Amino acid sequence: MTDKSGDAGVALMHSEELLNWSREKSMWPLSFGLACCAIEMMQAFAANYDLDRFGIFPRPSPRQSDIMIVSGTVTYKMADRIRRLYEQMPEPRYVISMGSCSNCGGPYWQHGYHVVKGVDRIIPVDVYVPGCPPRPEALIDGFLTLQEKIRTERRV
Ligand code: SF4
Repeated sequence: MTDKSGDAGVALMHSEELLNWSREKSMWPLSFGLACCAIEMMQAFAANYDLDRFGIFPRPSPRQSDIMIVSGTVTYKMADRIRRLYEQMPEPRYVISMGSCSNCGGPYWQHGYHVVKGVDRIIPVDVYVPGCPPRPEALIDGFLTLQEKIRTERRV
């Protein structure tokens, strides 16, 4: 429970709430792309969408990141690498699956013998962003959904 004492400029909250608040306001996604969806992800990171205002700041290393955006086609050849990058991220870590390919195999779901039919078969996914490809606004909506999830997270 948060108690805001406006006059004194003091906010009281559980340590868990404070940690959730700090995580939610400083999400550092790992910046790598797999296929065409990555073009839209890069567009979302460009200046005109100003993701810094949400505390979102792409990082080049999994060891500095707490969010993985899987943007594109997950082939069986890439699956091991994705899993390894995920395991290198510190906890708590989150995953956004961006686009139909990553969500379920997309256009390759039926005949794509080389495509994993959803990245959630190799790593846990927190938010699914639909589209082929999703627009940057859809990815931003995914970030906001993840923020909401982190805000209400409870760790025992
Ligand atoms: S979902 Fe569509 S745009 Fe995205 S990687 Fe697959 S084919 Fe490309």
